[in-house]
Amino acid sequence: MAANSEVEGVAASAAGRRDPAVRAAVEQGLVGGGDGAEPLVCLLDVAGIRASAAALTGAFAAALAPGTPVLHAFAVKAAPLVPVLRLLADAGLGCEVASPGELALARAAGVPADRTVLDSPAKTPAELREALALGIAVNADNPQELARLDGLVGRAATPPAAPIGLRINPQTGAGAIDALSTATATSKFGIALRDPGARAWLVRAYLDRPWLTRLHIHSGSQGVPLALIAEGVRELHALAEEINAAAGRRQVDTLDIGGGLPVNFASDEETPTFARYVAALREAVPALFDGSYGLVTEFGRSLLAKHGLVLARVEYTKTSGSRPIALTHAGVQVATRTAYAPAAWPVRILPYDAKGAPKTDDPVAQDIAGPACFAGDLLATARELPRLAPGDLIGVPDTGAYFFTAHYGYNSLPRPAVHGFTVTESGEVTFRLVRPAQEVSAIVAEAGGDLRDALL
Ligand SMILES: *Cc1c(COP(=O)(O)O)cnc(C)c1O
Repeated sequence: MAANSEVEGVAASAAGRRDPAVRAAVEQGLVGGGDGAEPLVCLLDVAGIRASAAALTGAFAAALAPGTPVLHAFAVKAAPLVPVLRLLADAGLGCEVASPGELALARAAGVPADRTVLDSPAKTPAELREALALGIAVNADNPQELARLDGLVGRAATPPAAPIGLRINPQTGAGAIDALSTATATSKFGIALRDPGARAWLVRAYLDRPWLTRLHIHSGSQGVPLALIAEGVRELHALAEEINAAAGRRQVDTLDIGGGLPVNFASDEETPTFARYVAALREAVPALFDGSYGLVTEFGRSLLAKHGLVLARVEYTKTSGSRPIALTHAGVQVATRTAYAPAAWPVRILPYDAKGAPKTDDPVAQDIAGPACFAGDLLATARELPRLAPGDLIGVPDTGAYFFTAHYGYNSLPRPAVHGFTVTESGEVTFRLVRPAQEVSAIVAEAGGDLRDALL
């Protein structure tokens, strides 16, 4: 049946699933202008997330020597939602956590300790003790943290169950976004490999501690070119070889190469792919795949970003200085980086009418503004779009990582609901609640509502 296979074709592509999902979100009353409909909702494309997880595991499996241990640990900060972590675990991934909250989320999702990695530049003694007791892999950030670990594990009779490593900073340089570049000469992360004496200190640190078995790197996130990431991994591998040669045994048995695959925010195309990343690594460090080291990866944005969509109602439209402005319910609370650093974090705006159908009229330059009370609360400036009207919706794609999952509580704007969606072959859209909308009463409670008289 032609109609059916067309629908199948649509459901098979991420962009093809989006418009049916938007229409269904309006029809099913999740968002829009109807009674009880929210002015703002966030959607996650379950099939898209599964496809990205499969692309990641498949790309590495295709390149690695058979039998090489590999753990793909999802960087929880990119999408700290328990059902998402559970979905990824079901697809074979673990979790990378960097705070007690993130660790609790991973545990709530049922991710086992041996599939969890703890990174963070400021782990407390209590966090370290808990990680070691649970058997969670720990990457220490600096010499003082290593000294703490000496106190906790160095004197124990048996080696710790938890694999322990050190994070290095290869000092290979910055990418396009300074705030996300972790391999600069003066980055706050890891042990700076090119500082005077650092290499010799590192080799000694391993020789003195037989329980140090891993090396860790994460050269940065969005904006760091693949070649720079690969160069850092090459440095990591070379250091592991140097340590193992000095030790006379394969003391370092696992390399944690971090995440950082950038995402394309300009179109629906998913580039660069995980396969492309693996190809870049193979070119820069062919020995990485020969099976002599187990591998850990820590991708976040590249697994989730393309699969998230913010849907917001246009409340009012106006003109100011002859510029048309659409006042919507999506702003700094769901797109914090875009509002504060618009040049680094441009987002696409997809126009829909009140029924959730794409708008296709002639474009007019418009500002897309959010609901917050500061002038910079804009998602786009002078963007060419069909002229928006009150009751229309805007879609903001590519927001599945670090956008609505990293809510910013400015103006006490509530965390919007997140729904996962699936589209069946016959075009039916099903939603599953992933995170409920934050109630105003919860905002009051979290703001000390029960402590009203505390300062009298
Ligand atoms: C943020 C972070 C990641 C994930 O980075 P992405 O760009 O989202 O892939 C991985 N590892 C560490 C240590 C991080 O801080």
